[in-house]
Amino acid sequence: MIEIKNLYKNFGSTAVLKGINLKLKKGEVVAIIGPSGSGKSTLLRCINFLETPDEGEIIIGATAVNARIATKEGIGQLRKSTAMVFQGYNLFKNKTAIENIMEPLVIVKKLPRQEAEAIARGILEQVGLVDKRDNYPSKLSGGQQQRVGIGRALAVEPDIILLDEPTSALDPELVGEVLDVIKSLADKHMTMLIVTHEMNFARDAADRIVFMDDGRIIEEGRPAEFFANPQNSRTVKFLNQVR
Ligand code: ADP
Ligand code: MG
Repeated sequence: MIEIKNLYKNFGSTAVLKGINLKLKKGEVVAIIGPSGSGKSTLLRCINFLETPDEGEIIIGATAVNARIATKEGIGQLRKSTAMVFQGYNLFKNKTAIENIMEPLVIVKKLPRQEAEAIARGILEQVGLVDKRDNYPSKLSGGQQQRVGIGRALAVEPDIILLDEPTSALDPELVGEVLDVIKSLADKHMTMLIVTHEMNFARDAADRIVFMDDGRIIEEGRPAEFFANPQNSRTVKFLNQVR
């Protein structure tokens, strides 16, 4: 359903992605782990052409976009079928929690406000923030802001949510509530590609672990096998460093 084919990306003379191939089935949750600088964020950003890949193809459902012949329409379709959750929360500071979630519905999907509000109310329930609906971001904790960010991603009903270290900017005591929300989406089979350094979370929430190093996928597998019996020496070294 989602396929990344032979993806290459250079920044100047630095090769950052060196031929990435990855497929996700509908409803699958894949965790990407790997050392800092290995190209994880760049990979996520290339999927919706936030960065333009040099070579390769992104296929999401009926949309296939080849980097070499990408059209505006193709890129627009990819952006419609994906949603991204960043490290920081990227909320509109002058909008309340519910307005932040309504925003893409009103602006992108062009829904009438009443309809957008009804959907946003349902999403606030999913992310456990019904009682904070009228709070501005400054009156929300970091964890609550990130849950609004996840809600905003959910609002547009994307085919896949891309999450780039969604908890790494949070104080440790706020990480759990955000991971719980992501876990609940995984349990509902929301298709997700999650870059994370939370190994326990990756083991619990993901269907598959992908280990990246130096612009390549080095190893992948089901969490239980991957963590119990990593095959590649680079995977072993990385896991020893983070555990
Ligand atoms: P990760 O998310 O795994 O830490 P990144 O994808 O952020 O890795 O970065 C991979 C490499 O690409 C790093 O060496 C980084 O310095 C470089 N890089 C990332 N973004 C840019 C950019 N916009 N311009 C130049 N170099 C970049
Ligand atoms: Mg990164």
